[in-house]
Amino acid sequence: MQWLRRLFGRAEEAPFLLLHVRCARCGAVVQTRINLYNDLSVEYDDREELAGYWIRKELMDDRCFRLMTAELRFDRQRRLISQEITGGQIITAEEYAQARQTQQR
Ligand SMILES: [Zn+2]
Repeated sequence: MQWLRRLFGRAEEAPFLLLHVRCARCGAVVQTRINLYNDLSVEYDDREELAGYWIRKELMDDRCFRLMTAELRFDRQRRLISQEITGGQIITAEEYAQARQTQQR
């Protein structure tokens, strides 16, 4: 069952996260890629020990050009624990793909 382990082992260690967002004003969708090893800032706790990671990412769609700001927090294993966005809404990869299809005339 070596091939099985290869298949699943690799998917879990993806070094990046894809963030999909829908603009709250015009409804256009945007996709951005966050590198979990290069893009994140370190967050320390009161005792100056590693508490986790975070990133603030600015996105802009190509329809109304309004700026959206996403703030994501990760634990020490770089797993996503919270996400907030102003000016838009976080959507799933499926919703993003669907919206892209209808946007292209
Ligand atoms: Zn927009």
